[in-house]
Amino acid sequence: MSIALIDDRSVRKAYEADASGLHLIPEFVARPESIEEVVDLMQRATADRIAVTCAGAQTSTTGASITDSGILLSLRSLDSVSAVDAKAKTMKVGPGALVGDIKRTAAAAGLLFAPDPTSEEESTIGGAIACNASGARTLKYGATRQHVQSLKVVMANGDLREFRRSNLEKNTVGYAFAHDPIDWFIGSEGTLGVIVEAELSLLPLPTHVVGLAVFFETEEEALKFVVAARESRTVAPRCIEYFDQQAIAIARSEASGAAILRDSATMVYLEEEISRDLDSTLENWSVLIDSVASQFEPIVFDGEARLREARRMRHSIPSTMNERGGRYQNAGGRKVSTDWAVPYAKLAEAIQTARLIAKTYRITEPVIYGHAGNGHPHQNFVARDRDELATIETAVEETLQHVIALGGTVAAEHGIGKIKRRWLPLQMNALQIAMMGAVKRELDPNGLLAPGNIL
Ligand SMILES: Cc1cc2nc3c(=O)[nH]c(=O)nc-3n(C[C@H](O)[C@H](O)[C@H](O)COP(=O)(O)OP(=O)(O)OC[C@H]3O[C@@H](n4cnc5c(N)ncnc54)[C@H](O)[C@@H]3O)c2cc1C
Repeated sequence: MSIALIDDRSVRKAYEADASGLHLIPEFVARPESIEEVVDLMQRATADRIAVTCAGAQTSTTGASITDSGILLSLRSLDSVSAVDAKAKTMKVGPGALVGDIKRTAAAAGLLFAPDPTSEEESTIGGAIACNASGARTLKYGATRQHVQSLKVVMANGDLREFRRSNLEKNTVGYAFAHDPIDWFIGSEGTLGVIVEAELSLLPLPTHVVGLAVFFETEEEALKFVVAARESRTVAPRCIEYFDQQAIAIARSEASGAAILRDSATMVYLEEEISRDLDSTLENWSVLIDSVASQFEPIVFDGEARLREARRMRHSIPSTMNERGGRYQNAGGRKVSTDWAVPYAKLAEAIQTARLIAKTYRITEPVIYGHAGNGHPHQNFVARDRDELATIETAVEETLQHVIALGGTVAAEHGIGKIKRRWLPLQMNALQIAMMGAVKRELDPNGLLAPGNIL
């Protein structure tokens, strides 16, 4: 029997929003429970020329998982998580499985699934693969791409294909972009195929991790410390996260109340996987901190419960800002989050310029926090109405031009989706965009998959 296309308005409305602040009500919703149903759906969509936009948990910040054209394909029910193959260090998962559940299953077998988007408890692996999501620990482990060994993909015409990473150490056959077709789908934001199964690579689980929150009087000192931590030979951080004064104010309420001192202006949170004893690790950090002159006693996060608290504190920033932006939806406002990144050594210059630009446009001071170790902060603005939104977007575009001049990117982890599409040409030249268009036309000749995303 073929899969139902739901046109009930209340069901369609349930899928109208992601975390971008945009609202688009799909014409139909499909909720397959098997790969065969996805194949059936794509065959029908091709025959009837109906657009299909995939959705996982709809935490996209770019409008990538919503549509008002054709079918919203929710993959949430394909949420299988296989037993871990401990010998091969792999596991197979359905696209609807939550990243957090996958990580816990791997950990129970003594293994680590490394990608750690801040949204891991509320987002799916299908979404993480389609966005090539990353997180704080990307500093040590890289983004999602390198942890995906194979994918089963339902193509636009309904063909079911499997793509396996070649893992060749040497290869001179043909053009590089054709070596590992699996990489076409990772980061493709649902535009090239529907991911229906993934085989993930796992790593040994670290035995002891310690977190450290270090406080500074100024942003300049904190960002100097970030560079020192990246370049040090005595410490090996797996993440380096930055919190400005406003971000600290949000985090304070999540970090066991009084833990974060009132007069500290900025904070850097880092973690290290310890191979020696805790004392000598902390001693090395202490020497590094003193070299940059922190006036405050660092807070140590040791043990699972304390590390969970630190993650909650970090997650509270984007989720609080999403909630603040949501209050202005009726007036045409929303949260605006930048996702730019620059080489880490240029982060201080980029943030200083971003702040200056925001001042020039007289917009509310943004909250700045995030993956400083990768030169990747988020600037979060709250636009209270349509006019303010337009001014903020102009200021952001000016910032992005500066970011590109510094050798950076306009979107380091959230993808382009619909909201950031107009900024693609800031970073990519016409030839690069034409080559992406050629791949899209070859794999999806009728342009049915995720119209409006990326291209
Ligand atoms: C509070 C908060 C914190 C966040 N923190 C981070 C972070 O630290 N790092 C980060 O990278 N992102 C972060 N994000 C963004 C978002 O959570 C990630 O991009 C996440 O991976 C999206 O997963 P999802 O299941 O919600 O996907 P969705 O939002 O449903 O979809 C995202 C994209 O994937 C496509 N897609 C989904 N499933 C499939 C499939 N099976 N086949 C093909 N395409 C598919 C969709 O079409 C869409 O283009 C954050 C978001 C929020 C709200």
